[in-house]
Amino acid sequence: MAKQAAGPESGMSDQWSDEHGVVDSSAIPTHDAGGAPIPVTIPIDLAPGVRVVYTTRLGGVSQGGYASLNLGGKGGDEPGSVEANRQALSRELGKPLRLVSQVHSARVVDADGRDPAGMDAPPADAQVTTRTDQALGIFAADCLPVLLADPEAGVIGAAHCGRKGLVAGVIASLVDMMVSKGADLGGIVATLGPCICPDCYQVDEDLARSFDQVFPGTAGTSRFGGVSIDIASAARMALRASGISRVVDSGRRVAAATHYLKDDQELDAIRKVDKGAEQARDIRADRAGHWLCTVENPLWFSHRRAVLAGVETEGRMLALIMRED
Ligand SMILES: [Zn+2]
Repeated sequence: MAKQAAGPESGMSDQWSDEHGVVDSSAIPTHDAGGAPIPVTIPIDLAPGVRVVYTTRLGGVSQGGYASLNLGGKGGDEPGSVEANRQALSRELGKPLRLVSQVHSARVVDADGRDPAGMDAPPADAQVTTRTDQALGIFAADCLPVLLADPEAGVIGAAHCGRKGLVAGVIASLVDMMVSKGADLGGIVATLGPCICPDCYQVDEDLARSFDQVFPGTAGTSRFGGVSIDIASAARMALRASGISRVVDSGRRVAAATHYLKDDQELDAIRKVDKGAEQARDIRADRAGHWLCTVENPLWFSHRRAVLAGVETEGRMLALIMRED
């Protein structure tokens, strides 16, 4: 069984757990039979027969700023560590990972025709499949992963939604390809993964203004005193514009996982690299509700937090969607 921080609702012992569905901690191993760490992931209930999983920083073999479950291959981490982390994740999910080389575009790939044994990662920012034998993964550390499924039609998709990709129309492109492969607009349900929140995502004024012209009302004020943009809100706008009205909130499960892992020893050790980021703010202290913010919740890798902390290395997480066999 995968080590999942907020898994099936069993073994709950207190009221908080009853409300938030925290699995009994004592039942979850941290290492496999061979002594390798088991990736710590957070499952989200999106739709029947569809599984969404967010990886965290925990349960891998990478070191330093990459500690420990870095899944990104472009950031300078040891290739052997990245590969070990990906293989461990694939084992836990029971499916090969299908990845793309993300370029902040609106390009979508049809993952149905990809070689099951191939390790290629075509340049794209979204992918679609009807197959049950692969997990579609989107890298992120502040950018927003959006996962979609039409469970009836058996079509799933995933998009990497940064500021540029949203403006380029990556969500519309993804929805178009899902529909072309048999999805029904009225049957599609979506969820938004962890990303940098509008309180934290301070940007240049010109940039905020142009983003706000495309997604009205998404520019605001950051907690650092400058202007900011809200990419999650923009993504919800793009989903509505594409005809998707059903959005499942990932925050509840993530809140449960955050609560469950608040005293985790590995998390405490990993957070030593965050110490220089005085402004990172720890939601465990005073920011309840910002569970999905990559800067504030120490469970997530965050490029912005690494910059604030003066750390030159940082990892990447994956948000994954897969159909069950
Ligand atoms: Zn935030």
